[in-house]
Amino acid sequence: MLRSARLRLTAWHVGVLALLLTSACLGLYTLLRHNYYDRADGVLTSVDTATVSMLGHQLSESGLDELAARDAVKTLNFPEHTLAIFDAQGDLLAEKPVGSTDRIPLPDAGHLTDGKISLYTARSLVNPSDLRRVAALRVTLDPSGRSYIVVSSRSLTPLLGELNTDRLILFLAVPGGLLIAGIAAWFLVRITLLPVAAMSEQARRIGAENLDQRLPVAKADDEFSQLAGTFNDLLSRLSAAFTLQRQFVADASHELRTPLSVIRTAAAVTLQPAARTEQEYREALSVIEGQAQRLTRMVDDMFKLARADAGGLTLDLTTFYLDEVVEEAVRTIGVLAASKEIAITTLIEDESLCEGDSALLRQMFINLLDNAVKYTPVGGAVEVVLEREGDQYVVRVKDNGLGISAENRGRVFHRFFRVDAAYQRANLNNLHTSGAGLGLSIALSIAETHRGTLYLDEAAGSGSVFVARVPCFQTVGSAAEKLLAQV
Ligand code: ADP
Repeated sequence: MLRSARLRLTAWHVGVLALLLTSACLGLYTLLRHNYYDRADGVLTSVDTATVSMLGHQLSESGLDELAARDAVKTLNFPEHTLAIFDAQGDLLAEKPVGSTDRIPLPDAGHLTDGKISLYTARSLVNPSDLRRVAALRVTLDPSGRSYIVVSSRSLTPLLGELNTDRLILFLAVPGGLLIAGIAAWFLVRITLLPVAAMSEQARRIGAENLDQRLPVAKADDEFSQLAGTFNDLLSRLSAAFTLQRQFVADASHELRTPLSVIRTAAAVTLQPAARTEQEYREALSVIEGQAQRLTRMVDDMFKLARADAGGLTLDLTTFYLDEVVEEAVRTIGVLAASKEIAITTLIEDESLCEGDSALLRQMFINLLDNAVKYTPVGGAVEVVLEREGDQYVVRVKDNGLGISAENRGRVFHRFFRVDAAYQRANLNNLHTSGAGLGLSIALSIAETHRGTLYLDEAAGSGSVFVARVPCFQTVGSAAEKLLAQV
C-alpha cells in the first residue's frame, strides 16, 4: 500500500491518464490505418473503373479483344500501379508494366461477381516482403456481350511505412505524456497539500499549555480552509473546556481550604495543653462535625457535576406524580423554613403524571427551595407553583428575600459563584450560609439532562423567582405519555 497521499494521488492520476492515453492512441491508430486503406482502395477502384471505360471505348473502335486491351492499357497511365486485362477464361490480354501479373496472386475468375469490385491484400510472389493491395473487377461489355477481368494493384510498402512512423510517434507520446503528467501531478499535489502540511506542523506544536494557539487558515475558501476553521473551532471549545476545568479545580481547592482550616484551627486550639471543660470539647467537636458535613456536601456536589460534565448523569426513568415529588421537597425544607418562621405556600396541580428521574428532580427542587429559604430573612414567605403548560411542567419557586441584582442574574448558575457573602450575612441577620455556589449549577444540569430548562425570572417587587421547565415525558410513546393523553 502507498502510505503517502501525495504518492497515491499521483499514481491514481498517472494510472487514469495512462488508460485514457492508451485507449485514445489505439483508437487514433485504428482510424489512421482505416483511412489509409480507404484511400488506397478508392484509387484502385478508380483505376479499374477508368480501365473498363477505356476498354469499352477501344472495343467499339477495333472490336478485337487483344488490340483494344493493349491500346487501353497503353493509353492509361497510373504510376505506382500495375494494370492487367484478362478475358473471361482468365487469359492475359494486356498488362503494364510487362511481367507485373507474375508478381501478384490473381483472383479465381469463377469467384468474381459481374460488376462488383473485389479488393484484397496479398504478398508479392517475387518479393514476399512487398505487401500489395489488389482490386479485381469483372465486367461484361456491350455490344459483344463478352466478359473481361481488370486487375490493378499497388504496393502497400510506402503506406505501411507511414503507418509505422505514426505508430512509433504514438508509442513514444504515451510514456512521454505520462512522464510529464506524473511530474506535474507530483508538484501540483505537493502545492495543494501544503496547507495540510502547515496544519499538521502547527497541530504538533499545540498542547495543553498553549491551547490558545490556532491552525493557519488558507486565504482560499476551500475544503482545507474549512477543515482548518473546523479544527480551530474545536480548539476553541477544548480551550474553553480546559479553562473551565482549571477554574473549577482552582475554585474547588479554594472552597475546600476554608472548612479544612476551620477544622484544623478548632482541633489545634482544643488540643492546647490548657484544661478544657466537657462543654468546650463538645463545642469544638460540633464545629468540626459541621465543617466535615459541609465538606462532604461539597465533595458530593462536585462529584455530581463532574459526572454531569462527563455525560454520566444518566436518568433512572420511572413514571411518578411530579406533585408528590414537589411536596416531598417542600416537606424536607419545611424544617429549615420553620426555624426561620418562613411560610411556604403551595399551588400544585394534582396528579401531574411525569416520566423522569424522580430522585434527581427532587434534588433540583430541594436546591431551589433551600436557596429560597436561605436567602430570605426571618419571617419571609416562599411560594411554590406547579402547573402544566402543553407537554411540559413548569415549577416556580418564589421568595420575598434578598433578590438577585441585575449584574449577578447571569452568573448565579456559574459554578462556585456566590453573591457577596458579607452582604448576605448582613442582610440575613448573621445567618450562616454554608453553600459553596454549586447548588444552582447542579439544578441546571438536572433540568438540562431532562431536556428542560432552569432560569431566573423577573421578580415583581423584592425577592427572586426561579423557573424550572421539564418535559412531561422523556420517551415518545411511553406509558406516562399514554396515561397523560387519557387525562
Ligand atoms: P449556594 O450553595 O451558595 O447557595 P447556589 O449555586 O445555590 O450556591 O447559588 C449561587 C448564589 O446565587 C448564592 O450564593 C446566592 O448568592 C444566589 N442565590 C441563589 N438563590 C437565591 C435566592 N433565592 N435569593 C437570593 N440569592 C440567591
